[in-house]
Amino acid sequence: MSTQEELSYKSTCSYCGVGCGLIVKKDKKGQISLKGDPDHPVNKGMLCSKGMNLNYVVADDSDRLLQPQMRWGKSHPLEKVEWDIALERASAVFKSIIAKHGPDAVAFYVSGQCLTEEYYLVNKLTKGFLKTNNIDTNSRLCMSSAVMGYIKTLGEDSVPISYEDIELADCFFVAGANPAWCHPILWRRIEQHKEENPEVKIIVADPRATQSCSIADLHLQLNPGTDEILFLAIGRCIIEQGDIDLSFIKNHTDGFDAYRDQVMTTTLKEASEICGVSIEEIKLAASYIGNAKAFLSLWTMGLNQSADGVNKNLALIDLNLITGNIGKPGAGPFSLTGQPNAMGGREVGGMATLLACHRNLNNPEHRKEVADFWGVDKISPNPGKTATQIFEGLEDGSIKAIWVICTNPLVSMPEARKVENALKKARFVVVQDISNKNETIPYADLVLPAAGWGEKEGTMTNSERRISHLSQFKSPPGEALPDAEILIQFAKKMKFSGFEFNNMAEVYAEYCQLTKNTNIDISGLDYDYLKHQGTVQWPFLNKTQGGTKRLFTDRKFYTPNNRAQILTSGLKNSYEKATPEFPLILTTGRIRDQWHTMTRTGKVNKLNSHIPSPFLEIHPDDAKARGVKEGDTVLVSGLRGEVRVHAQITDKIKKGMVFIPMHWGKILGNDFARANNLTGNSLDPVSKQPDFKYSVVQVALY
Ligand code: SF4
Repeated sequence: MSTQEELSYKSTCSYCGVGCGLIVKKDKKGQISLKGDPDHPVNKGMLCSKGMNLNYVVADDSDRLLQPQMRWGKSHPLEKVEWDIALERASAVFKSIIAKHGPDAVAFYVSGQCLTEEYYLVNKLTKGFLKTNNIDTNSRLCMSSAVMGYIKTLGEDSVPISYEDIELADCFFVAGANPAWCHPILWRRIEQHKEENPEVKIIVADPRATQSCSIADLHLQLNPGTDEILFLAIGRCIIEQGDIDLSFIKNHTDGFDAYRDQVMTTTLKEASEICGVSIEEIKLAASYIGNAKAFLSLWTMGLNQSADGVNKNLALIDLNLITGNIGKPGAGPFSLTGQPNAMGGREVGGMATLLACHRNLNNPEHRKEVADFWGVDKISPNPGKTATQIFEGLEDGSIKAIWVICTNPLVSMPEARKVENALKKARFVVVQDISNKNETIPYADLVLPAAGWGEKEGTMTNSERRISHLSQFKSPPGEALPDAEILIQFAKKMKFSGFEFNNMAEVYAEYCQLTKNTNIDISGLDYDYLKHQGTVQWPFLNKTQGGTKRLFTDRKFYTPNNRAQILTSGLKNSYEKATPEFPLILTTGRIRDQWHTMTRTGKVNKLNSHIPSPFLEIHPDDAKARGVKEGDTVLVSGLRGEVRVHAQITDKIKKGMVFIPMHWGKILGNDFARANNLTGNSLDPVSKQPDFKYSVVQVALY
């Protein structure tokens, strides 16, 4: 809708997975303003501090990459070049490396912030035409344990709930998440629901007393890494209380007997000692869940970013399954997606281990279906390298070239100094980004300027399977191009057919056809519908009925026998071991007003003023034992590096553990505040997601 004076556009916030709707206005001078979309089903007009300041990010082009840049040799400086030369060089190098070393010698590393169309194109390009599955994404650092949790228990990577279930639930179990800071608008809906219905119970499990604990009826301040034991102990109590749903278990699940045997192997006293949570608290949590009419479990990085991430997911989802809290209003397991389009990426098969529309890369029939659809002879059966494995491949020389799109691995990857060494060894590095602040650029042989949010159109899917269309309302600065356009031009340079798209609607239409007859079928959906009828939760039934609010209402799951699987792990603990030299456990995470590596939120003064500098949270007893006072500069050292930040002494953190925010990278060229100097490459064996929540460290006065 527009007037002569002002143009108005619909979009979606580009930060977290909540997916708030926005109305963007552009006045006749080109000034951008925005507000929450009052008609949007997710946020109903509300926005958090990050979303409401997006217009300042869009208005400030001071850090933008404006032209392609290239260096002719590793010792040469980056020089501005024409797009044609840049992409010609990229295709020549990729062709030559593939001819000499095979397709698995190249890799793409992309982002949960890419639009679905971009994700689809880069997967088609890599898996279909470059013939390698070495395409992974920073979603590996974010949701891959939840993906595997859903696949193992429900049969596919399918979040069963709708945000509408928030207002229908009477018990929430928030585990390993601080949605008050990291998913604020969703949390505001929970707060409002609790305010209007004080009998609603909220349980938070977190070693830190975060903002989310402020409205909790029960805070289980567990020892780091003990979540699975806690969930199993709660499961044991629910069984002993007689609050399981026997009819649901009998008719719709497998595995309950083994689960019951497993939970009975640990007494409540043992669990209480291991977890650092009292028996009474465990029983109270079990009674809240067991007595609930509708129970939602919510979780995010505290469970996913763990060497035992999948097991933690299974043990939490089990609580929904043994109580029959799935497929009905107000109930279900609900993973909170970190990034705005991590879900869209998963749909198009955006990770090294996936194929589009929940197809399995290991399944020859699925590979054939997708290969036939793309008109290529085959998709390689070789497993693709996951995020950390790609950088290991660069380090050991098995991968020669990497193309990084819309992500800043030198700040966000674990063991950042190792990533730095890996990039130094790479033969060819392409960085495609919007900002010259991306710390990967000094290692790039080719830098490609990309269009940002609002400078291109496309779609994203939020945490509740809701697909939204994002409008373009601004031209990209300089010679920057939409990521999809760059990928299409590169594919043409490579002489690949199948990339003859005139616009993003055509890319989307192709992807929609690939979903036909799958459990995420959106084959009847198109841009016109999304633009004019609004957002849709997949699967999309038809233009009359629209999307699907809630999955599994018929209690038929996506497993081969249509029964949900109640699974236990056998409690393998694969964490680093604390030692006298490194006795403290470090956990990392987000703060309220910054997003990832701060290339966008760091440009907004209002957001920087919330917490202006990096810090270490430490318990008063641990500080005292080290002679550390509030505000002192401390050296945090670990097995892989060190960090130097100010101490913030608080009894809100469990004794024996410390916390550093993950956002800061190099400051004035120095990496002293980069939390990922300390984290390691300890992966969940199933999801390959790295552990950012359990690294052993020592703290000393600097
Ligand atoms: Fe954006 Fe998330 Fe805030 Fe909504 S809650 S405005 S999606 S950052």
